[in-house]
Amino acid sequence: MNRDAPLASIKGVGVKTAEQFALAGLETVDDLIMFLPRKYEDFSQVVSISDIHPGKQTIKARCEKVETKRVRRGLQITTATLVDGTEKLQAVWFNQPYRVKQLSVDDEFYFSGDFEFSYNRYQLTNPSAEKVSDVPVSTDRIVPIYRVVRGLKSQVVRKILMELKPLITMLPETLPGHIVKKEKFISYADALLALHFPKSGSDVEQGRERLAYEELFVLLLAAQLNKQANMHLTGWQIPFDQIAVKHFVQQLPFTLTDAQRVAAWDIIQDFEHETPMNRLLQGDVGSGKTVVAGLASCQAASKGFQSAIMAPTEILASQHAETLSGLLKPLGVSVGLLTGGVKGKAREVLYENIANGGVDVVVGTHALIQEKVKFHRLGFVVIDEQHRFGVAQRQELLKKSERMPHLLSMTATPIPRSLALTVYGELDISTLNERPKGRKPIQTKTWSPNSRPGLYDLIDKQLSAGRQAYVICTLIDDNPTMEQKSVQEEYKKLRVGPFAHRRIGLLHGKMKSSEKESVMSNFSNHKIDILVSTTVVEVGVDVPNATVILIENADRFGLAQLHQLRGRVGRSEYQSYCYLMMSDSSAPTRRLREIEKSGDGFYLAEVDLKLRGPGEIYGRAQHGELNFQVATLGDTKLIARAQKQAREFVESGQDLVQYQQLALQVEKYQRLTKLN
Ligand code: ADP
Ligand code: MG
Repeated sequence: MNRDAPLASIKGVGVKTAEQFALAGLETVDDLIMFLPRKYEDFSQVVSISDIHPGKQTIKARCEKVETKRVRRGLQITTATLVDGTEKLQAVWFNQPYRVKQLSVDDEFYFSGDFEFSYNRYQLTNPSAEKVSDVPVSTDRIVPIYRVVRGLKSQVVRKILMELKPLITMLPETLPGHIVKKEKFISYADALLALHFPKSGSDVEQGRERLAYEELFVLLLAAQLNKQANMHLTGWQIPFDQIAVKHFVQQLPFTLTDAQRVAAWDIIQDFEHETPMNRLLQGDVGSGKTVVAGLASCQAASKGFQSAIMAPTEILASQHAETLSGLLKPLGVSVGLLTGGVKGKAREVLYENIANGGVDVVVGTHALIQEKVKFHRLGFVVIDEQHRFGVAQRQELLKKSERMPHLLSMTATPIPRSLALTVYGELDISTLNERPKGRKPIQTKTWSPNSRPGLYDLIDKQLSAGRQAYVICTLIDDNPTMEQKSVQEEYKKLRVGPFAHRRIGLLHGKMKSSEKESVMSNFSNHKIDILVSTTVVEVGVDVPNATVILIENADRFGLAQLHQLRGRVGRSEYQSYCYLMMSDSSAPTRRLREIEKSGDGFYLAEVDLKLRGPGEIYGRAQHGELNFQVATLGDTKLIARAQKQAREFVESGQDLVQYQQLALQVEKYQRLTKLN
């Protein structure tokens, strides 16, 4: 039998059991081997009945009398009198009438269960019972408890794993031998044996450490290998053009922050190398990433290279195009916008201009990766809000250049340090850790629905002072069962009710792109006071005069999303406000309390990582696949150890070929985490 064999090929797994396993997502022998216990219960000490005390206990006894009574509809009680030569004890089971047949008076059994006071007496409640002459699975040992999935019982899992024990014992080592030795780890097989069949608590600890290390090592190795592969590529060399950069900076309506300067310099230096840049620009919302990308594309254009900037929504793409052409056109750098909204003749002309180099900076949505788009000396690619794109989409764009272009991935979801080391280990990272001068912290407050009128007064004061507001709702059409506010309904309500005297706009993802654009530009130009919108404005939208954001049903949003939404305000020197309206008047959730307390995206990202796990944070395409079984990203010591070995492994030029299982996993992670 091998690890790929279907579970049905194991002795004792019939059709029905195999079906149950399949429902729980367990199909092969390997799936089951890697189905690790959730916790353990220590039933390893056998006590005599005269010594028994409350709690989890195991006794070795015979049954004197077993009977089942139907107490009432749906409840059958089986009782047995157990004797072991010291005293008598009553055991009781609920709705397990088969015990009568199992517990023959001729055999001796182990009973493991809770000895507790119930129904007015001490008794052993619902104990597992196994013949002493059999190999104990659920009694007389440290019993592993498995996740109950879809009715699949822990004891069934234990029994089948017992059948697999000889196979597990024979499993070959997965990590390079010298690492196992250096780190003083137990072998791979021993680690799995320790987790499925522990003899002590320290067995479990050792097994977990070994497997957690391996998970981290694989991920870190994948990152190192990606980095190494990137270093062997030949890209474009874009020499520094001091004059172009100086002109760009001089005509900005503001001075760059120090962080922006450093990030821009990082990029310019990377450009000068033949090795393609693979850099992540992380900066909290509103920290000014766009202008950094603009500066770099200006520098590329001055040396005859085209740039492509891909954004996740049409609104964002057209806003970037507008901002960038404002900054670049005066310098003779042309900017084009390609989204689904550009149609017919205009689209054909644009394709042509992109292909012949008439456009220097091409801004767009994923429309950029379409077959028909041909670039001209594409030297620099920017992916804004990179976590919104899948691996394939990013690569598709990069493939459009004859050589690997320099890549700048931008994200406003700051990456916790542990993730930066592991998942993003292959990247160079620039961080915008300061916000432009003069910005005041956004005042954030949760509100309960019954104080709504007071809140509307506050918002109206801001509008009277000449500011603008966002109202964010989650659904497009009203859905009463979800009790969520829909934009449509809210829009109508605000227009006739409290804000009848204000100009109100509506924005949602199902609108035509031309409509969206005109609403956004009306909001930008202050022809609209209140924009009622779905989360389409979540990423990137920049209207500095907006100082209020009211988020309806705020408790339904994730932490990162709330922080992103809040980032739509606080983009000018005016004091800004974020109001989090709860669905009802219950106590605010942990997420809401955290966001109320902190405006620091880095801190919130750490909290989010703890609350949700890395898979969710890393991005859409990788959803869930990065969540470790054993390792936690909080274990910085283990990460550092694995990091050291992964580096050494790659530097020493060792080949993965001889570590088959490791190679497979590394390859999977390489695909998942690769950004360029
Ligand atoms: P994000 O990092 O969230 O993408 P943006 O690039 O949209 O941020 O910039 C937010 C706003 O701040 C924009 O209106 C931009 O013009 C402005 N901005 C950027 N850098 C500076 C700066 N150094 N000083 C003042 N305002 C700036
Ligand atoms: Mg942005």
